[in-house]
Amino acid sequence: MTSRVSGALLALVLALATSASAGEPRVILISLDGVRADTPDRFELPGLARLEREGLRAARLESVFPSITFPAHVSMASGAPVDRHGIVANAFLDPERGLFDYANDPSWQAAEPVWVTAERQGVASAVFFWVGSMGPFEGVRPRHFVAPFDASVPESEKVDRILGWLDLPPAERPRLVLSWWKGADREGHRFGPDSPAVKEAMLDQDAELRRLLEGLDARSAWGDTTLLVASDHGMAEASEPVDLRAALEERGIGAKVGPFGGIAWIALDDPSRRQAAQEGIAALPGVRAYASDALPAPWRYGPASRLGDLVAVTDAPRYFRDGTRARVASALGLISGAHGYDPKREDMGAIFFAKGRGVPPGTRIGSVSILDVAPTITRLLGIEPPRDSEGRAIDAIAAPEAR
Ligand SMILES: [Zn+2]
Repeated sequence: MTSRVSGALLALVLALATSASAGEPRVILISLDGVRADTPDRFELPGLARLEREGLRAARLESVFPSITFPAHVSMASGAPVDRHGIVANAFLDPERGLFDYANDPSWQAAEPVWVTAERQGVASAVFFWVGSMGPFEGVRPRHFVAPFDASVPESEKVDRILGWLDLPPAERPRLVLSWWKGADREGHRFGPDSPAVKEAMLDQDAELRRLLEGLDARSAWGDTTLLVASDHGMAEASEPVDLRAALEERGIGAKVGPFGGIAWIALDDPSRRQAAQEGIAALPGVRAYASDALPAPWRYGPASRLGDLVAVTDAPRYFRDGTRARVASALGLISGAHGYDPKREDMGAIFFAKGRGVPPGTRIGSVSILDVAPTITRLLGIEPPRDSEGRAIDAIAAPEAR
């Protein structure tokens, strides 16, 4: 073979390889923690505005019950409701394993995360912080991940790393990327959802989102890449802390309490006092108490073994909170923010945007369930949905060849 022919052959092989890799679908999911559905309308956020203009915006994304960070993120990544994945709160007590405390070890969860779904089907994945991403789930972990979790890592570092992953050689390059961002959760809790601090946080998050968009522009990635930007829950104005532990102590009942805004679990020191504890809690204004093994079925909340003896719920402006900080804030008449309430409440709605492959520009849709995110991702990737998913792929987002 002459060198000229082999050169032409090489060029042909390279062209085929390039066109094949350009055609391989890729999905990036970013979660901005605690960003309420109406937040993009309240501030000028050019990154989100660009997604809305050039892609899809849902009126709201409905969280799970309860609308709190860990349960919601595991549901978003698995399509499974809480009683199926078992991460019932950010912290809880398991009768065998003891305390789960903001752990990122997926052996605590029963539902398959979407990066495991992808890896099982030959799709490389990468995760820069997500609940349950920092270990193997049934022996499978993301190809690339970052550990340990560190809330102080700036989003600029996440954007750099994500773009770096996209520049890896094809064999190592992930086709599924997930990343948790701080959103406006902390500021919303501290100062309330309408505070200037929330605006500041959103401006910062949006600036990093724009850097990600520009990085994708620079790589001409939109032909094969779909970017999803979601949040896990909204935020309500809260001003009346309810201290369940103190209320029980007044009745001489000792308990561990896991308070998460609109919801709390109560593990009694002496479970035989459940009736007295339930009556005591139910006597608090605006508070309802349920036996953990007799929760309303539509909540899909469980397993009961991880919920102590009782589950208490309340509604904003009341919120469950222990300790001095909440008491002082309340005494000073300060507004703070809380979530964990019924996900159907308007202010519990979260954001959902999409842009890129499979997303017609200027698309507006209504409410989307958080369970629908993972099966939407797998349909875009052309693979089977997560094993435990109960969601269904969003109609308005589909690969061009599937239309
Ligand atoms: Zn959250």
